[in-house]
Amino acid sequence: MTIQWFPGHMAKARREVTEKLKLIDIVYELVDARLPLSSRNPMIDEIVANKPRIILLNKADMADTEKTNRWLDYFNSQNNNTKAIAIDAHQGKGLTKIHSLSKELLKEKWDRMIAKGIRPRAIRALIVGIPNVGKSTLINRLAKKNIAKTGDRPGVTKAQQWVKVGKELELLDTPGILWPKFEDQEVGLRLATTGAIKDTIINLQEVAVYALRYLSEYYPSRLHERYGLEEIPEDVVELFDAIGKKRGCIMSGGYIDYDKTTEIIIRDIRTLKLGKITFEIPTE
Ligand code: GDP
Repeated sequence: MTIQWFPGHMAKARREVTEKLKLIDIVYELVDARLPLSSRNPMIDEIVANKPRIILLNKADMADTEKTNRWLDYFNSQNNNTKAIAIDAHQGKGLTKIHSLSKELLKEKWDRMIAKGIRPRAIRALIVGIPNVGKSTLINRLAKKNIAKTGDRPGVTKAQQWVKVGKELELLDTPGILWPKFEDQEVGLRLATTGAIKDTIINLQEVAVYALRYLSEYYPSRLHERYGLEEIPEDVVELFDAIGKKRGCIMSGGYIDYDKTTEIIIRDIRTLKLGKITFEIPTE
């Protein structure tokens, strides 16, 4: 992550989002479909309060489809004011649903306006989310043009404008940037696995070990296939060594080159060489 979040930044980010909420009808909360809870802001429910909301599970192209469907059920069963859909902002997939779902969620409000004789206007929306979930990509996709990215720092603002998305929808061109729940170490490791946190500020080897542990529990066959392992050692360090050996990451003296092995594992995960992986499963 390019941001170092401090309490002052968080307070300011929250204030900025709260100000923007006054201007809009609906919130599009962007999360990463591979880790829908870890990629959320911990105070999002409190911040958004009772505004209608669509949770957009972005980067669905990289997530495990079966688990994405479970996440959609999970979010869709929570409350009537909140709906969830899976999208791929990069390729522009699933985006037409955003519009129809927004209309659905705002139908009552619009009907009330019409009943009072107020002419219906475009629905106004705001995209919010933690850094790297794809906010700018989505804005650009919806706007069908390139809107300059705001500095990924809370407090760095530019004059905001409405971007037209068709005739019936308008989007604020600057997203609400909120912080992740980084005080939880597992959340940090999950975010790091997907590359949402800058590699220079984390211990990548720890991330690789964390990911391997998860993969051997939930996706053992992927490890078999990718690394040609007959058996998956139960001990994660042994597994790490076995992958290093298979990949020829050996230093003089026959020792495993941990840095190189780490690099291979992380790259394989991020480039989908181990297939589409979801790192979190909804608990009932
Ligand atoms: P922001 O910090 O929330 O504005 O995130 P960006 O829009 O800058 O996106 C972060 C990275 O994720 C970029 O490299 C995007 O190309 C990538 N990205 C965004 N959406 C998707 C998606 O749906 N699928 C994939 N595979 N990559 C995406």
